[in-house]
Amino acid sequence: MIKLEKRYDVIIVGTGVAGLNCALNVSPEKSVLVICKESPDKSDSYLAQGGICRLPEQDDYQCYFNDTMRAGHYENNPAAVDAMIRGSQEVIDDLIGYGVDFARNGDGSLAYTKEGGHSRPRICFHEDTTGREITTHLMSAARSRRNILIVPYITMLDIICDGSACYGIVARDGKNGRLYRLFADYTVLASGGVGGAFENSTNFRILTGDALAICMRHGIPVDHINYIQIHPTTLYTKKKGRRFLISESVRGEGAVLLDKNFKRFTDELQPRDIVTAAIRDRMTKDGTDFVWLDMRPIPREEIMNHFPGIVQHCLNEGYDVFRECIPVVPAQHYFMGGIRSDTKGATTMPRLYAVGETCCNGVHGKNRLASNSLLESLLFAKRAAQDINSGYSPIDMSAATAAEAALDLSKYSNPTRLLNEYRAEVRAEIARCAAAESKDGAN
Ligand SMILES: Cc1cc2nc3c(=O)[nH]c(=O)nc-3n(C[C@H](O)[C@H](O)[C@H](O)COP(=O)(O)OP(=O)(O)OC[C@H]3O[C@@H](n4cnc5c(N)ncnc54)[C@H](O)[C@@H]3O)c2cc1C
Repeated sequence: MIKLEKRYDVIIVGTGVAGLNCALNVSPEKSVLVICKESPDKSDSYLAQGGICRLPEQDDYQCYFNDTMRAGHYENNPAAVDAMIRGSQEVIDDLIGYGVDFARNGDGSLAYTKEGGHSRPRICFHEDTTGREITTHLMSAARSRRNILIVPYITMLDIICDGSACYGIVARDGKNGRLYRLFADYTVLASGGVGGAFENSTNFRILTGDALAICMRHGIPVDHINYIQIHPTTLYTKKKGRRFLISESVRGEGAVLLDKNFKRFTDELQPRDIVTAAIRDRMTKDGTDFVWLDMRPIPREEIMNHFPGIVQHCLNEGYDVFRECIPVVPAQHYFMGGIRSDTKGATTMPRLYAVGETCCNGVHGKNRLASNSLLESLLFAKRAAQDINSGYSPIDMSAATAAEAALDLSKYSNPTRLLNEYRAEVRAEIARCAAAESKDGAN
C-alpha cells in the first residue's frame, strides 16, 4: 500500500489525457502526484472513439477555425481556438512520440476521417478506440518517469486555500478511508466532466463535477455551467448505467438516420446540437423512444477495420450492424462549461490550474465540434505545465499551514454524503443558469 508524502511539488487530480499530459510536461526534477477516484481506466479519455483533430495542412486553417466557431455558435474564445488549431500538429507529434498508432494511408501518411460539423476530413484515429490507444500510451510514459507517482482510488474532497492562493488538497483513500491533507506548490484540476450527474450519459458514473462544486464553494468562478452537449447517437437500451456511444465518425463515413418508416429525416453531418434537435423532433412526431441508424451504406471492410468495437458491442446487445438498423437516442455527452481558466490553464486563484473537460477556456463556445476535446485537453494541459515550469516558486509554508489549520475536518467525516452534496450543487447550478439564460432569451 502506498503512503502519500505530506508535500509534493505538483498535485494533479485526474488521470485522463489532461492530467497525464500535464504530468508528462512538468519539469522532471519536480515531484508530481497524480490521483484518480477509481482505477485509471475509468476516465472518459479512455472511452473516446472517433478520434482527435489535427490541422492537416496550413491552407485548412481558416476552414477548421470557421467550423469550430460555427459549431460553437460563435461564442468561442477566438484566441483559444487559434491556439488549439496551431498547436494540433505538435500534439499529434507528441502522441506519436509516445508510441500512439494512428491509422495510416498506404503511403504512410496519416489517414483522416470526418465527423459532423467538419467541412473536410481532419481527424486522426485508431480504429474506434482512439481514446484507449492514447491514454494507455500516456499512462505508460508517465509510469516510466521517476518523478511521477500515480495513485488510484484517492478522491479529492476539497482544496486547501485562503484568499490569496491554493496550497494543496484534502483527499481520501477509498481503500482504507484514510484522510490526507496534502500540500503542493501547484494544484491542477483535471477531473473531467459532469455526465455522472445525469441519468442518461455516455460518461463514467464517477464523473460528477466534484472539482466544480469545490471551486463554487470557494468562490472560484465557473463559466457556462449549463452548456451541456447532448450526443445525437447512443445505443438505445432499457438497461440502467452508462450509455454506449455510436461514434459520429460512423455518420462521417456514410451511416444514415431513419425514422420509424425507415425514411431519412435530416442531414446527418450537421453539428451535434442540430442533429440532436432533429432526432428529438422526429421522436416526438413519431411517438417513438429512438430513431434508427443504418450503417449498411458504409462498405463492409471499412466497418470491420474502423469500427470493430461498435460492431462487437452491438452484437453483444443483439444487433448485427451488417444486416439491420440499430436503435439510437440522444444522451448527455460533454461539458463545454467549467472552471474559468485562461489559455495557460490558470484559474482566478493563484497556484490553482484547471485543464481538460473540467475547465472552461471558451474554446468550444456553446457546442463542441467533434473530436476537438482530446486535442484541447492535451494542448492546454501541456501549456499549464509549461506555465508552472516557467514561473515556478514554492508556497509560503506558514500561510499553507494556517490554511490547513483553518479546515473544518468534520466536513469530511461522511465523504459519500459530501460527494452527493457536490453532485446536487452542480445540478442545481446547471438548472439555475439554464433558467436564467432562457429568461434572458425571452426578454
Ligand atoms: C464515450 C465517449 C466518447 C468520446 N469520444 C471522443 C472523441 O472521439 N474525440 C474527442 O476529442 N473527445 C471524445 N470524447 C470526449 C473526451 O474523451 C473527453 O472530453 C476528454 O477525454 C476529457 O479528458 P479529461 O482528462 O479532462 O477527463 P477524463 O478523461 O474524464 O478524466 C477525469 C479524471 O478525473 C478523475 N477525478 C474526477 N473527480 C475526482 C476526484 N474528486 N478526485 C480524484 N480524481 C477525480 C477521474 O477519476 C478521472 O481519472 C468522448 C467522451 C466519451 C464519454
